[in-house]
Amino acid sequence: MCLKASVAPLEGALFLRENGGRFWIAPDVAATFARHRQLSRWRREAGGVILGRWILDTEDVVVDVVSEPGRGDRRGRFFFHRERERAQAIVDDAWQSSLNSRVYLGEWHTHPQDVPSPSSADVDDWRRIAHGAIYESQALFFIIVGRSALRAWQFSTDKGLGILHSSPSPLIDRVVATSR
Ligand SMILES: [Zn+2]
Repeated sequence: MCLKASVAPLEGALFLRENGGRFWIAPDVAATFARHRQLSRWRREAGGVILGRWILDTEDVVVDVVSEPGRGDRRGRFFFHRERERAQAIVDDAWQSSLNSRVYLGEWHTHPQDVPSPSSADVDDWRRIAHGAIYESQALFFIIVGRSALRAWQFSTDKGLGILHSSPSPLIDRVVATSR
């Protein structure tokens, strides 16, 4: 792997929240997402939990750690069910190793679509997770990694489900372009 001088440096992916806050996916995480894209017919869905930080005194959120598929997850071309206990251990570890600043922010998974859209099962899942989770900051985030675009949604207790806007889009192409 080598970086070419003529391309932009890895910059992650930036989305805007409807309250004006930013939702930033750190470069390492964006690169992890890019690696799991379902670019070939036999690749199965991947997914995991997303972890990061709420920036103090702002509405900004940074995603800087994600879990990747592992033992116990059930994966197919069109589904991903993550095993609960391993993910919970990752969340607990992140919390402790960050001196209680890195928290559970939500979930990610891939789709074999260029520009991904959530299935009705995804939306049901997200609702269930959001209602079941104890989260302090009133919102959880859900990311779907498509073959060429990365999209993100937010579920908040007051506004329900809403898409996060990014500019420019799709950013995942830049992430991939820089790692070739
Ligand atoms: Zn899905």
